[in-house]
Amino acid sequence: MFNVTILGNNSAVPAFDRHPTSQVLTTNNELFLIDCGEGTQMQMQLYKIKRSRINHIFISHLHGDHYFGLIGLITSYGLMGRINDLYLYSPPGLQVIVQMQLDVANVVLPYALHFVTITSNTILLQNNKIKVSCFATNHRIACYGFRFDEVKSPRSIDAPKCLQHEIPAAYYTKLQQGENYEKRDGTIVLNEAVTVANTAAKSYAYCADTKYDETILPFIQNVDLLYHETTYLDALQDKATERYHTTTKQAAAIAIQANAKQLLIGHFSSKYSVLDDFATETQSIFANTVLAIEGGVFEV
Ligand SMILES: [Zn+2]
Ligand SMILES: [Zn+2]
Repeated sequence: MFNVTILGNNSAVPAFDRHPTSQVLTTNNELFLIDCGEGTQMQMQLYKIKRSRINHIFISHLHGDHYFGLIGLITSYGLMGRINDLYLYSPPGLQVIVQMQLDVANVVLPYALHFVTITSNTILLQNNKIKVSCFATNHRIACYGFRFDEVKSPRSIDAPKCLQHEIPAAYYTKLQQGENYEKRDGTIVLNEAVTVANTAAKSYAYCADTKYDETILPFIQNVDLLYHETTYLDALQDKATERYHTTTKQAAAIAIQANAKQLLIGHFSSKYSVLDDFATETQSIFANTVLAIEGGVFEV
């Protein structure tokens, strides 16, 4: 399982039943929250997100539409008796803001809150399931995009077959890398007999907020699913540039150059009550484009 659920798809203010930015990446092991605009908790309840399975929250930047829901979520976790550590990744400033909010309310959280301050393009998290890296986007204040890469070995163990061939579990890692197994008597057990091929590792990249900027391309190359902001329609390209945002056609151009398989667009300006033109304009250049509709679940 590797999919994205949209909780909020609007920019700046809530409007037309659309909420400020937030989304959840669901994997087999855990959920990752990406941005946490106002209303994120309510949207989590509406769309049945298991928030207790979130241990890492990635905040792109400190414009309110991307984190004003955070203090509510942090305190709710405390009231619900959370004990697992929670990691918050963001550009500088978040720790001061959150700590002040907790201090004035005399809140002592029952769990550990770790702040990871992002100041450069780097790998934020890496384990045997996932790798998360960040890259600077081009916005009015410090802002980062995130790339999530599934980590998978080429092969999976077929446990009953391994038992049948009496292969010790200590050898499983080598089998997952494709090696054969040699028994004591010299018989070779072929890898294909005791493993199955894994599906390809998937990747997801999140780019919001940003003006059109090709310097992000090396970081989002070949992603399976690319989320890119489209705050404005094509007619407002000058305004987009001036406000450090992107238009439909510009996002499509980024998707083409990044060789992305699919493009997901969001962060719509509250100027627009209907979103149909966002899809039409973007698809005219990059056909495999979908709108980040709230509640939508997009398979990576
Ligand atoms: Zn924004
Ligand atoms: Zn912004």
